Amino acid sequence: MKQVILIKYGELTTKKGNRNFFINTLYQNIKNKLKKFDVSIYKDRSRMYIEFCENDLEDIKKKLDCIFGIHMYHVAYIVDTNIDAIKSLLVELVSELSFKTFKVEVKRSDKSFPVHSQEMNRILGGVVLKNKDGISVDVHSPELYIKVEIREEHSYIYFNAYQGIGGYPLGSQPKGMLMLSGGIDSPVSGYLAMKRGVPIDCVYFEAIPHTSLEARNKVIELSKKLAKYANHIQLHIVNFTKIQEEIYKHCHPSYCITIMRRMMYRIMEKLAKKYHGMVIINGESVGQVASQTLTSMSVINEVTCMPVLRPVACFDKLEIINLAKKIDTYDISILPYEDCCTVFVPKHPVINPSLEQAKKEEIKFDYSSMVDEAVDTVDTILIEEENDSFSDLL
Ligand code: ATP
Ligand code: MG
Repeated sequence: MKQVILIKYGELTTKKGNRNFFINTLYQNIKNKLKKFDVSIYKDRSRMYIEFCENDLEDIKKKLDCIFGIHMYHVAYIVDTNIDAIKSLLVELVSELSFKTFKVEVKRSDKSFPVHSQEMNRILGGVVLKNKDGISVDVHSPELYIKVEIREEHSYIYFNAYQGIGGYPLGSQPKGMLMLSGGIDSPVSGYLAMKRGVPIDCVYFEAIPHTSLEARNKVIELSKKLAKYANHIQLHIVNFTKIQEEIYKHCHPSYCITIMRRMMYRIMEKLAKKYHGMVIINGESVGQVASQTLTSMSVINEVTCMPVLRPVACFDKLEIINLAKKIDTYDISILPYEDCCTVFVPKHPVINPSLEQAKKEEIKFDYSSMVDEAVDTVDTILIEEENDSFSDLL
């Protein structure tokens, strides 16, 4: 009995002219993710099919559970589109299952197949009843759903349904640059951006010796969690020490965070140009801290005309935490190592900064050469998904 994995696209099927582009991107992503397995993958406009070796099934399912664009999948038995063949496979399959009530649901995609879905439901229901004792039909809450899809050449019988993570295939949008700190919010933001099809590079600002190597490792571990949803991710580590020290030497304490974040945005824009990113992504959430009031955000945002995606902008912290747990970043994020933002945080950061004052504060020192130097000296690490390892890039 031959099995295949049957993938449903969900939201992708609502794409009209671009549908092929989305499906091809998904196809390529699935192919890349499953490259170490002995599989054949083929597709049509509404389904993708994966032939696999039975021993690999559980490992393949783990991979599919991390691919955006998969709405739902089934492990199905494949049979020729021929009524007698379908009946006899069904009898064979149900003889090995134990259940008391069932319902047959036939979907006839091949409209040239002579028997209509309703009629097929009745015929197949009758065949099951006749060949197994002690069972009955329950159309409302059956113990076993028997799904049959009738397609042109082959038909499919399955009893299971696995929820995919949905979204759009990674790479169906241009790249974004994620500001990845060790906190809870930014990994979740990265996940949500990827879910819309945006591949990401991560950028971490560190201020050694004020921040530790443990803090860096935390960000590497978070990047690995995100790399599960891609093939690999580049992590750029920015040496932010000099700029931060200058800020704290020259600027009024209440404006230090505002200025620091304006510097981060300036560096982000330059890094985006250098690494071909089209947007900046971060974990800012409206009202969460002084630098994330709408006034602060607009004063900080003023340094760049690049779009800034803030996927968790309107989420409650608890909603963000729930997502962080789901993507398995929460336990890493709550490790206690200090980040460059927390090390230097002033007692009374300004809640409603003025743009004029921010500009006055930052011309107290010559930051532009330091910004360029930070971009030029960035350290890039390639975070691999496969074996959870990473290696230095030149
Ligand atoms: P928390 O979950 O505790 O709020 P956070 O990472 O969100 O942590 P914030 O101070 O709220 O920290 O910073 C807002 C956003 O700015 C972060 O979500 C992140 O995108 C970015 N950011 C802050 N610090 C850094 C850093 N050191 N490197 C890269 N990005 C940073
Ligand atoms: Mg935050």
